[in-house]
Amino acid sequence: MGSGEKSNDIKIFVNFDKKISKKKMTKQEVLKILKIQKINLGVSTGSKWLDSGNNFIESFSPIDEKLISKIKQTNEKCFENVIIQAKEAFLFWKKIPAPRRGEIVRQIGDEFRIKKEAISFLVSYETGKIIDEARGEVQEMIDICDFAVGQSRMLYGMTTHSERPGHRLFEQYHPLGIVGIISAFNFPVAVWSWNAMIALVCGDVIVWKPSPKATLCAVAVQKMISSVLKKNNIPEGVVNLISGNAEIGEWLINDKRISLISFTGSTNIGRHVNTVVAARFGKTILELGGNNAIIITPDADLKLAIKSIVFGAVGTAGQRCTSTRRLIIHELIYEKVKNDLLKIYKQLKNKIGNPLEPQTLIGPLVSKDAVINFVNAQKQIISEGGQIIFGGQILKGKDFESECYVIPALAEVKNHFKIVQQETFAPILYLIKYKTFNEAIALQNDVPQGLSSAIFSKNIIETEKFISVEGSDCGIANVNIGTSGAEIGGAFGGEKESGGGRESGSDVWKNYMRRQTCTINSGNDLLLAQGIKFDI
Ligand code: NAD
Repeated sequence: MGSGEKSNDIKIFVNFDKKISKKKMTKQEVLKILKIQKINLGVSTGSKWLDSGNNFIESFSPIDEKLISKIKQTNEKCFENVIIQAKEAFLFWKKIPAPRRGEIVRQIGDEFRIKKEAISFLVSYETGKIIDEARGEVQEMIDICDFAVGQSRMLYGMTTHSERPGHRLFEQYHPLGIVGIISAFNFPVAVWSWNAMIALVCGDVIVWKPSPKATLCAVAVQKMISSVLKKNNIPEGVVNLISGNAEIGEWLINDKRISLISFTGSTNIGRHVNTVVAARFGKTILELGGNNAIIITPDADLKLAIKSIVFGAVGTAGQRCTSTRRLIIHELIYEKVKNDLLKIYKQLKNKIGNPLEPQTLIGPLVSKDAVINFVNAQKQIISEGGQIIFGGQILKGKDFESECYVIPALAEVKNHFKIVQQETFAPILYLIKYKTFNEAIALQNDVPQGLSSAIFSKNIIETEKFISVEGSDCGIANVNIGTSGAEIGGAFGGEKESGGGRESGSDVWKNYMRRQTCTINSGNDLLLAQGIKFDI
């Protein structure tokens, strides 16, 4: 299948108010539901939108390379207004009891539920990810809202026993202040929500700078939020949006008034963000690039493994931070795995096309630059002595309305190749052979990144070793499931050049608060710790 049918006339089903209405929507209707048909402003302090001059960010759909929005980028004056407003709003928001803040987040989650199909359509249209994955992304937003509502009643501090009589010792958590969220194009709305919903229940106010490649999605989400904020009389400045490119990102990371920068993006930019924010003693959460591997041992259930590998390698057209990039295969089963993959990759060629079509499994890459990157990586593989054994071509012809559609590639390489040590944000899957289990683990860990990892094996000794202290060095280590597709309940993030950040579930809320240790003396004597005597 190609993208033969006209993408702009795509009909999708929408689920209004939990009733399946079976109403078909066109692109225009989606924009209408999201109330963004006429909007060209990109800066908002909640329900108000600010006019920020005449510098526009243009967003193109990779489906057909059509211009889909021209949105005003923030200027310096608007940026300053937003930050001043946010600072003031923090004085209000931090005093609202956390469960009340949770109630606002609950209502935001309901908004996402009601408009799930419409926003999923937009995510697919603006970024090129297939509609079902876009739905998954919006579902993550709903899930994190539910999680955050519960969390709003569980911002626990601990209490311990003081060494001094008549003294009470405990820890408590207070909100940080302004949290700046800089997001990447490939998860244009979910990553924001992971940060935003937790930060909001923690009592922080947020300023979001979305990816310039997905500004319309951000504007649509801000519009959804604004109705909830208005209904609840939440002052301007609690939930802010500043659309813009790297320059605007620079303003945000350099601003001392921003307590925490949560940055999601490439390792190179993350390295810079880390340096700038650390120099001003700000806090960071860094969610950066991955170079994720799956180890396939002779004891693997290959049917299970192949399905996971393919989803991990070509899902979101290989543009997930957790995409499977390297396969580390035991030599005994290497040829079998390779041939199984070749067979499936050949069939997949018929599933590349318009991501809004339900039968499509692989949509376009996000831009022509991404395609160039994909092509150049293959040249480098060959120049380093590797081999492209399948795919790698750019798809042309009447079925493809842009030059962003490619055939996912399979390559035989060595792990130490320079190109293999980097994250190429495109669907290239590297096949690497191993002899011993220890060698497999060493290969898995021998890259600068440490985001996600997986093993397929039914041998408990191997699987336990993989997740032991001698095993994977990644933030995520999966057994008999692939590298991509995390649930919101766990802490999400990686090690090494993947940034070391943690977002989403578990106890990550602590990253959005400051810890205070308190000792209270209810006695009549001044007793110094460690029994120190200081009589005056
Ligand atoms: P990118 O690094 O090009 O851009 C990310 C964001 O940073 C954008 O909003 C961009 O405008 C902003 N930015 C660029 N220069 C900046 C600067 N100097 N100061 C402040 N902000 C700046 O990334 P991308 O191409 O949008 O996304 C792909 C990358 O993101 C991949 O490397 C992928 O692995 C990574 N990613 C990581 C995670 C994770 O959770 N680990 C999740 C999604 C994406």
